Amino acid sequence: MRMTVLASGSKGNSTVVASARTRLLIDAGLSCRELLKRMAQANEDPAALDAILITHEHQDHIAGLAVLARRLRIPVYFTEPTHRAWVRLMTPSTSMTYAKWLEHVQQEKAARTAAQTAAVEPGGPSMTDASSSVGGSAAGLQLAAAAVSEAVPEEDDAPPAASTRNPASLPAVEYFQPGTAFSIGDLTVTPFTTPHDAADPCGFVFESASEAVRMAIATDLGYMPPNVKSALQRIDVLLLESNHDLEMLKDGPYPWAVKQRVLSRVGHLSNHATAQFLAQDYDGNATCIVLGHLSESNNAPELALLSAEQALNERGTLLGNRILLAQQSAPLAPICL
Ligand SMILES: [Zn+2]
Ligand SMILES: [Zn+2]
Repeated sequence: MRMTVLASGSKGNSTVVASARTRLLIDAGLSCRELLKRMAQANEDPAALDAILITHEHQDHIAGLAVLARRLRIPVYFTEPTHRAWVRLMTPSTSMTYAKWLEHVQQEKAARTAAQTAAVEPGGPSMTDASSSVGGSAAGLQLAAAAVSEAVPEEDDAPPAASTRNPASLPAVEYFQPGTAFSIGDLTVTPFTTPHDAADPCGFVFESASEAVRMAIATDLGYMPPNVKSALQRIDVLLLESNHDLEMLKDGPYPWAVKQRVLSRVGHLSNHATAQFLAQDYDGNATCIVLGHLSESNNAPELALLSAEQALNERGTLLGNRILLAQQSAPLAPICL
């Protein structure tokens, strides 16, 4: 299995998680052009991606989503509340009543059902069918896509003209629910709820049964609740938030209200809170911990690293854990297990 952090930080987040057969992009928080550039730099082939998964609808996680998904013609996985919040963000001028939203969702469901019935394998793949093949799944989704919206031509990063295209149109949408595992190809994905000020934010655990490896992404966390602590057990590669240094945040340039938001239980994890998790709750299983979502204004990479290292140093047996710093401006080399 492989994790490639393309970007991490308050200005954009995106990570590739791949097994031998399946490649997923988690969040698309940079422009499509920049994401494609980062993938080229990191030797990740965009054409080989099977799907995009979204943690939550904040700009630093979705900036390039619509353009990238349409260009690659791959499905996007959201929770339903996150999808709805994202559609609202993309189409601020259209007010959609809940009744109309339900109708829209119903139409998409019907299109997917029709596509599954028409899929090559009768009885078609389902979201919880671990044995479903990537090919079958993708074929079904693409049929669904065709039924939902017209095929779209290649496009640039420029927003589409409202008259020609709905900016929230996607090739295909799949819903998941936090706490309920689902499969894409040979990867099992377990989403878990995170405390953060978005519609329905979550983190993910990825597992490849054939490779017996587990990787996780846990950022945008106001604090470490019990469900996140328990989700992050037996993880081999852990991308963990270490957003800000408390002193730098307090003395820093943010307005008071923003400081309060970052510090709140639906904001971001401080270096201190991350260290506390590593010292007290972390099971020591990870070969590699990647510190991510560092604030450029309120953190310094050396401080985040020092804080995490000190926490692990207090536990002599964990000296073998490798700690890396994810970057905002460049991709990290792929972490392969
Ligand atoms: Zn966020
Ligand atoms: Zn974020």
